Amino acid sequence: MIDLKGYEVWFVTGSQHLYGPEVLKTVAEHSREIASFFGASKYVPTQVVFKPVLTTPESIRELCLEANSAGNCIGLITWMHTFSPAKMWIAGLSLLKKPFLHLHTQYNREIPWSEIDMNFMNLNQSAHGDREFGFIGSRMRLNRKVVVGHWQDEDVQASIGVWIRAACAWADWQGAKVARFGDNMRDVAVTEGDKVEAQIRLGYDVYGYGVGDLVKSVKEASDADVKKMTQTYLDEYDVVPALQPKGEKYASLVEGARIEVGMRNFLSAGNFKAFTTTFEDLHGLAQLPGLAVQRLMRDGFGFGAEGDWKTSALVRAMKVMSAGIKGGVSFMEDYTYHFSASGDKVLGAHMLEVCESIASGKVRLDIFPLSIGGKADPVRLIFDANTGPAIGASIMDMGQRFRIVANVVDVVPTDKPLPKLPVARALWLPRPNLKVAAAAWIYAGGAHHTSFSYAVTADHLRDFAEMANVEYLLINEDTHIEEFKKELRWNDLYYHLAKGI
Ligand code: MN
Repeated sequence: MIDLKGYEVWFVTGSQHLYGPEVLKTVAEHSREIASFFGASKYVPTQVVFKPVLTTPESIRELCLEANSAGNCIGLITWMHTFSPAKMWIAGLSLLKKPFLHLHTQYNREIPWSEIDMNFMNLNQSAHGDREFGFIGSRMRLNRKVVVGHWQDEDVQASIGVWIRAACAWADWQGAKVARFGDNMRDVAVTEGDKVEAQIRLGYDVYGYGVGDLVKSVKEASDADVKKMTQTYLDEYDVVPALQPKGEKYASLVEGARIEVGMRNFLSAGNFKAFTTTFEDLHGLAQLPGLAVQRLMRDGFGFGAEGDWKTSALVRAMKVMSAGIKGGVSFMEDYTYHFSASGDKVLGAHMLEVCESIASGKVRLDIFPLSIGGKADPVRLIFDANTGPAIGASIMDMGQRFRIVANVVDVVPTDKPLPKLPVARALWLPRPNLKVAAAAWIYAGGAHHTSFSYAVTADHLRDFAEMANVEYLLINEDTHIEEFKKELRWNDLYYHLAKGI
């Protein structure tokens, strides 16, 4: 399970010596109070650590280097309570490798009309102090998030919380290991990509394994662990009679448990955060792992089918972003359409691997043949997904750059029951509608695999893409095809030219 409490955001205040020790003491007191307020905010999943007020280029540089090397520091929140001449920040900011958020706030909410004097003005001057700091960020072309408003305001806390969650996911990607069991599904284009470039740009490392390495781990699973796992299934799920201990297919359930134990052992021994499988390479495995994948995803692992390591890493990132928030994240595929007068809908599913974290109501553990792949019938969890707003995101390697495209959707109940559909499923109305959303998605080269979530929002993904310096295209209620096509053309130019700016 993912816990963000071990991470820290450093609250960094800039000032200068001009104001004398008394003012600087007050600045420090105010900053400490704001840092501890954010630390206690329900929107903030990490620790917020107050750092001493910075007044010299040397101390700023030192702080930035310290942040770079602090493994649990996921980023900085910067604020200029007073005026901090921004040339002092150049050395530090040019070395800073962690994301930063520029909080443009003021300690006092309101002007004390009858009391205000020059002392008040000197202390509360972030209105211009933060503009000086903003200039150097723009002059140096640094990606950062700017949040404006009084620090106690709900929307300010929420914006900061979103950014912190994105920064946690970014920190989690750095040095993360993704295990691939087998290669790509043969001939598929979008799931391919440059793994070296991904490691340089995005920080995670993709390790290839022959499926035999996994088979070995599955074979080595202890009978006691397999028995325990089988019992967990019987306790947790609505298991169909055929898979019950006296049922004719009980052996398949035990085999499913053996696969899960073997996969878990393999992934934890290698300290992997995400993985892929492919139905085209299962030599020695009795079933395509379905149930095991569904449950591993539930526990926070990223997953991509057919060797899709990019989606697997994205699922993991979105698991981290949404840790502790209700809603869930799953690997997903746009499967089939329902064109109707009440709105064109998408039925999302996969051969097997939809995460239990998005299930609504009862989860059934069942067994059916796999329509492709030619292996033994795999056990799998079957359920309807929750209803409500959700987002599907995909990441592609466009050759020159990585691109994230996301679509906001509304998941709705199925029009009728689906008694013969042997997989977990979600039915949704894309925003603004299927015609526009699917056309935009296709123009953008969006993948057929997505990471699908009810907890992650377009804002989390935007902040994340900004930190990663990756193109981000959002399809939502405001999308118009002609404008979207222009955005694609402009982005092509921008990302080409930006290398030289
Ligand atoms: Mn697929």
